[in-house]
Amino acid sequence: MNDMTSSPLSPTASDTQEPMVRFSGVTKRYGDLTVLDNLDLDVAPQEKVAIIGPSGSGKTTVLRMLMTLEPIDEGVIYVDGKPLTHMESNGGLVRANEKYLRSVRGNIGMVFQHFNLFPHMTVLRNCTEAPINVLGLSKAEAEERAVELLELVGLGDKLGEYPQRLSGGQKQRVAIARALAMRPKVMLFDEVTSALDPELVGEVLNAIRMLGKQFQLTMLMVTHQMGFAKEFADRVCFFYEGKIHEEGPPEEIFNSPKRERTHQFLSAVL
Ligand code: ADP
Repeated sequence: MNDMTSSPLSPTASDTQEPMVRFSGVTKRYGDLTVLDNLDLDVAPQEKVAIIGPSGSGKTTVLRMLMTLEPIDEGVIYVDGKPLTHMESNGGLVRANEKYLRSVRGNIGMVFQHFNLFPHMTVLRNCTEAPINVLGLSKAEAEERAVELLELVGLGDKLGEYPQRLSGGQKQRVAIARALAMRPKVMLFDEVTSALDPELVGEVLNAIRMLGKQFQLTMLMVTHQMGFAKEFADRVCFFYEGKIHEEGPPEEIFNSPKRERTHQFLSAVL
């Protein structure tokens, strides 16, 4: 923790702002296996965090917990100041009901490795379905929003197309537009370029970069794409055995990691 009274530096944005995402002492177990071990992680509004680390170190679990796809064993996760699985009551935190969970979860969008588009719907309908059904937008409003996003990701000419006729990079850009149509504050990306041919990776990463700026998003990205993590992230967290083993600005983590395990991992993947 920074001791602000003794620091000669002026406070940074992350010192003064409420974090957009906070993991506070979060532990997640599957049986005897501790997958996240008393994890503390604060992500400032509009910060871009790359999560790297060996397979099985808990990276995807971090994103799944944020989507409330998994219950927490210990600790609390906050999104935009609100506890994710619990709500405040006079006596402290009590388990949240579905309505409350949905409202907090509405701040979060997620894009997966395998796109998960609705195959029987056009590109446009993929992007309007949830805004109409979940947010209650009219068809016209939802379409206006979707067209704007699809144009931004360079797919304005594919509105009536079905997913099977798109390239992997195009499908992933639809998935990104679809997530953004819900106007989340936080976007989670789980290995979104892993299933793509190398020549299609750039177009997806460019879309993510551009949209992050345009919509002032807070982003958490699990990635094996070290080049992108280096260029894109404000901070890189190296996960090992369910903990953040080392974290810092990309140039520090990639050029001069302090811990042996980080160094070993990077030597193997770079
Ligand atoms: P990473 O994304 O770093 O590869 P994960 O977060 O996917 O790691 O998984 C961390 C550990 O948790 C792995 O050992 C994995 O096998 C285990 N795990 C993940 N999901 C489950 C589950 N539903 N049941 C049991 N074990 C799981």
